[in-house]
Amino acid sequence: MTSTAQNDEIDPVIRAIRESVQALCADFPGEYWRKIDRGREYPTTFVNALTQSGFLAALIPEEYGGSGLGINAAATILEEIHKSGANGGACHAQMYTMGTLLRHGSDAQKSKWLPKIANGEIRLQAFGVTEPTSGTDTLNLRTTAVRKGDVFIVNGQKVWTSRAEHSDLMLLLARTTSKEDVKKRTDGLSVFLIDMRDAVGNGLTIKPLRAMVNHATTEVFLDDLEIPADSLIGEIDKGFKYILDGMNAERILIAAECIGDARWFIKKATDYAKEREVFGRKIGQNQGIQFPIARAYASTESADLMVQKAIHLYDANQHAGEAANLAKMLASEASWEAANVCMQTFGGFGFAEEYDVERKFRETRLYQIAPISTNLILSYVSEHVLGLPRSF
Ligand SMILES: Cc1cc2nc3c(=O)[nH]c(=O)nc-3n(C[C@H](O)[C@H](O)[C@H](O)COP(=O)(O)OP(=O)(O)OC[C@H]3O[C@@H](n4cnc5c(N)ncnc54)[C@H](O)[C@@H]3O)c2cc1C
Repeated sequence: MTSTAQNDEIDPVIRAIRESVQALCADFPGEYWRKIDRGREYPTTFVNALTQSGFLAALIPEEYGGSGLGINAAATILEEIHKSGANGGACHAQMYTMGTLLRHGSDAQKSKWLPKIANGEIRLQAFGVTEPTSGTDTLNLRTTAVRKGDVFIVNGQKVWTSRAEHSDLMLLLARTTSKEDVKKRTDGLSVFLIDMRDAVGNGLTIKPLRAMVNHATTEVFLDDLEIPADSLIGEIDKGFKYILDGMNAERILIAAECIGDARWFIKKATDYAKEREVFGRKIGQNQGIQFPIARAYASTESADLMVQKAIHLYDANQHAGEAANLAKMLASEASWEAANVCMQTFGGFGFAEEYDVERKFRETRLYQIAPISTNLILSYVSEHVLGLPRSF
């Protein structure tokens, strides 16, 4: 694939990462993911292998035991995971949630947690933002954290909190000052790093939420949960800004996963079209089969250019909001186009579990909805890039 090859030629570190991830993923073929998907199991062996190889600590600075690499490395890791037919959803959050701790946590918090996250002793995979009533309208979330002496008392409910059962820590967004009492409407929310090992059964209840994809996702209930006051990350009431800060990284990394998915679908469709014979000839001889695959390839390559632009701006500490949003939208559309084309190329066999197409098809559909839906990206572009009037 041309753009990938060009990127690797100029960066030997990226090329080496790509090859190592490919080698690791080769031990986790389609059979592994099919079994995990069927039973809605957590891919523990895969996550452990990634952790032991240091890939999940790529963004953690070397002083805390990580590799101190940039978003380019993290994006490459996730793209390769998805390109192999695997799925990074079981563990990708560690890469972007950890950024909030890294940028806004105190030295004491960083020294306490980052080395343990880097060496795999503990996992920071859970991210509790979405709530059943407020949805995308984060500023209207209802979970509260009230200071009482040395502790905060947390009450509320989260939904779609993925990986909560397989994580030791959760980054939680809660209201600490009521909307009526803040000067700026974006103030009043705070971020907490909760040690769930102490909390489960003591005010924190996690209920699995069976979904279309195997994402280890859950509902989380917080009933008078007491957490130490030093669980607060950064300044009180400034949490919304911290979460927004982390969203560019999240969008770039998810976009890279989409590019990986798209490449998997295109290869799968191309290989099948070269083999499958109907009416006495390969189906790939028909331009009705070729052209949609070629078009999906073009969409993927152009989306990848936007992903590379976002990576470049982010790693150069430049304003990456526009490019990260566009990358996420274009890459999620390219992966969905490739998924549809692959399904159509396979015909009926696309529905058979054994080809993995139906599983990847379900998995890649998610990205137009989570972690941010396409409409909300279009709204960002309309308002913040084009200067159109606010609609909400
Ligand atoms: C498998 C899965 C895993 C997830 N993991 C996590 C997680 O780990 N942590 C977490 O916090 N969240 C998680 N989420 C939640 C995810 O981020 C949200 O589902 C997503 O942001 C969309 O929010 P919503 O579902 O509340 O949709 P809603 O906000 O209810 O919106 C519904 C639809 O209306 C559209 N819409 C809403 N308002 C407008 C508007 N003003 N203009 C135009 N269109 C609008 C939206 O785009 C969307 O299509 C996960 C979701 C899924 C499905």
